[in-house]
Amino acid sequence: MFSYRHAFHAGNHADVLKHTVLMAVLRHLTQKDNALTVLDTHAGAGLYRLDGDYAQTSGEAANGIVRLAQWQTPLSPHSPALAKLLAPGLAPALADYLEMVKGFNQSGTLRVYPGSPFITQQLLNERDKLKLFELHPTDAKTLDANMAQLEVGRQVAVLREDGFEGYKKFLPPPARRALLLCDPSYEIKSDYPRVAAMAGDALKRFATGTYMVWYPIIPRPEAHDLPRKLKTLATKLGKGWLNASLTVKSSKLTTDAQGDTQRPGLPASGVFVINPPHTLKAKLQAALPQMAGLLAQDRHAAFGLESGS
Ligand code: SAM
Repeated sequence: MFSYRHAFHAGNHADVLKHTVLMAVLRHLTQKDNALTVLDTHAGAGLYRLDGDYAQTSGEAANGIVRLAQWQTPLSPHSPALAKLLAPGLAPALADYLEMVKGFNQSGTLRVYPGSPFITQQLLNERDKLKLFELHPTDAKTLDANMAQLEVGRQVAVLREDGFEGYKKFLPPPARRALLLCDPSYEIKSDYPRVAAMAGDALKRFATGTYMVWYPIIPRPEAHDLPRKLKTLATKLGKGWLNASLTVKSSKLTTDAQGDTQRPGLPASGVFVINPPHTLKAKLQAALPQMAGLLAQDRHAAFGLESGS
């Protein structure tokens, strides 16, 4: 059942989008006085080696965080349009994210990539709580060991449970402030309807929480339907929403020199946020054009940003 390992994908373009949005959301939510509860329903292993076998095999980080880190010294020169976009410097949300990743790599070389549990924990106040769900036995064990190193005691709990069910016992949260991040691997088709069902149920349990869903943009009906369903849900309930997407290349199949059909790998992804902080849109308006320009793999690179209330 579990063939997905995030270690292959850590630091790729989808992580750049997801973690930039996650940080921008958390920067806002952690400014308030009351304790925040963060539920990470699909947490992964927490920390990943970029110089290890998994990351080296896939090479995905090279076209994600590594490219971003080289924004001032690219391997090939930026186009005039991109150079103009970058002239004022990196947008604050992107710079914040890059600094976070660099903070885990004090030697100056990117060897380690922090997943959502570590990024989140770094931004929390002492009073805040983080609940991490991870079902894969190996990743759950690694996550537990990784988080234990932080010695933050009861602030963080690692639960080897189904995140699609486990969140229920934490909503509504004690101080009535929560962020739920839902970032499944979508390796099973049923993940798509489960995400939508969870969002609906979570909003019933706690209507004012912030709900953030990452989704792949791939030629599959369920994948297309998910952001539409989330938008319908938010609109029906009169909740604000924001949908940010990043495309780095064409989704078309190609043919290699041997005549074999090649899949392009993940070409694009999106993040849908229900009840987003009011500061999020402006932050992403500045960050997304730079992200799309820096991570572009072909002329199909683009970004999307829409919102409603
Ligand atoms: N959120 C992580 C990050 O940003 O660093 C990456 C998570 S990865 C995309 C998805 C993870 O969900 C995998 O580690 C997988 O083992 C785990 N998983 C799959 N189904 C699950 C479920 N029902 N409940 C909890 N974890 C699950």
